[in-house]
Amino acid sequence: MNPIQITCPNCNVANRVPEERIGDKPQCGKCKKPLFLGKPLDLHPGNVNAVLGKNYIPVLVDCWASWCGPCKSFAPVFEQAAGIFEPGFRFAKLDTEAAPSIAERWAIRSIPTLILFKQGKEIQRASGAMSLPQLQQWLRAANIN
Ligand SMILES: [Zn+2]
Repeated sequence: MNPIQITCPNCNVANRVPEERIGDKPQCGKCKKPLFLGKPLDLHPGNVNAVLGKNYIPVLVDCWASWCGPCKSFAPVFEQAAGIFEPGFRFAKLDTEAAPSIAERWAIRSIPTLILFKQGKEIQRASGAMSLPQLQQWLRAANIN
């Protein structure tokens, strides 16, 4: 089977992992840390291109802000979903106040906003917090192929 490319959440190096081994807790070839942590990683200008563009798997981003109440209540749902959907998806969070240039590029108008990317391209977006079953349904319905 063809290896697929996965960006390390720790050092941002692109790793090539055989597709059939992706569920076997693969480690980064460079820093030796796990490629999947069972929780979202934080996006910032230094890693956003590597995380979005060099991951073969789709990347789901939760765009949030510290002053946003619904974002806070959604955070544990998003984290739980990461544990369920990795390694089929990569989960990431964008603090829209800490990285306003990225929020602007993605035209975030309300938060929380969820954006699903595949190989750097936005393929689906939703505004507002979801319950875990709603999020699962939304992801399963996404056309990621
Ligand atoms: Zn690494």
